[in-house]
Amino acid sequence: MTEEQQAGLARFLDTAYGFLTTGYKEPARYNFDVCNVSPAAEVVPGPELGGSPQPCAGVGGRGDDAAVCRKMSGNSAPLMEESSVGNGTPLPAESAVENTMAELEEVAACVRECTLCGLCATRIKAVPGEGAQRPLALVVGEGPGADEDSSGRPFVGAAGRLLDQMLLSIGLDRNRNCFIANVIKCRPPGNRDPLPEETAACLPFFERQLAALRPPVILTVGKVPVKTLLGTDEGITRLRGNWKSYRGIPLLPTFHPSYLLRDESQKKFAWEDLKALCRRLAGIDPGYAAETAELRRARGI
Ligand code: SF4
Repeated sequence: MTEEQQAGLARFLDTAYGFLTTGYKEPARYNFDVCNVSPAAEVVPGPELGGSPQPCAGVGGRGDDAAVCRKMSGNSAPLMEESSVGNGTPLPAESAVENTMAELEEVAACVRECTLCGLCATRIKAVPGEGAQRPLALVVGEGPGADEDSSGRPFVGAAGRLLDQMLLSIGLDRNRNCFIANVIKCRPPGNRDPLPEETAACLPFFERQLAALRPPVILTVGKVPVKTLLGTDEGITRLRGNWKSYRGIPLLPTFHPSYLLRDESQKKFAWEDLKALCRRLAGIDPGYAAETAELRRARGI
């Protein structure tokens, strides 16, 4: 049975269960917009990523792929230990923020210059990622689509607007407290899934961002990022909502917003995932817990 068929069967069973227990109702609509946090700020590139491309210290120019970036070979800062996360992990000290900013700028510059895989030939703009330098959550998608390819920014089309709504519904905002990136930084033609060799070439950029940002939590959207990071072939319908771990960081898979745009009946499951993320973050960060206290009370989180 394909993943699509499994999802269809799950929807049928869910509808049938609801009919048997409470009678028929119109499916609930989850627009992720009934929240008590401040309204959506205008989403603009973070200052660390929105400026002119900086020269990459390790790039020897196009064609010099062996030296494409001096940190591609795994010299990134160590990630947090498994035992230290999810239990009130301290965020980076102020002094670490400048290092984070410099590292993110360098990764972005490397990505914009990168010719490590064939996707460099078809991209309009590479999409390094954007967001806060001290994120509560790192949101990870698959790769750029047409809108992202044109703009050089992640999640800016209809799916991006829904993602922003989803995040705002639990007090997260790419301008303030989360970072958004993809596992693949250039658009695969026709939005096809990235090839294994493309993923292998690109993943070190993501790893460097992860090491610099040191987020307390990772939220993956869609099947490709969770498949890439966890090496699983399990479908997203089964994976979503179940906490995993990547490099010692708690990771929660959920549906991709473009899937939710195609099938609104799945939004209630994504909302359950967002509530779980919200609860986890409230247990990690007292500031977030205080800021979202009213929101969580009002929404029963
Ligand atoms: Fe380089 Fe990644 Fe773009 Fe391939 S997808 S060219 S590895 S930045």
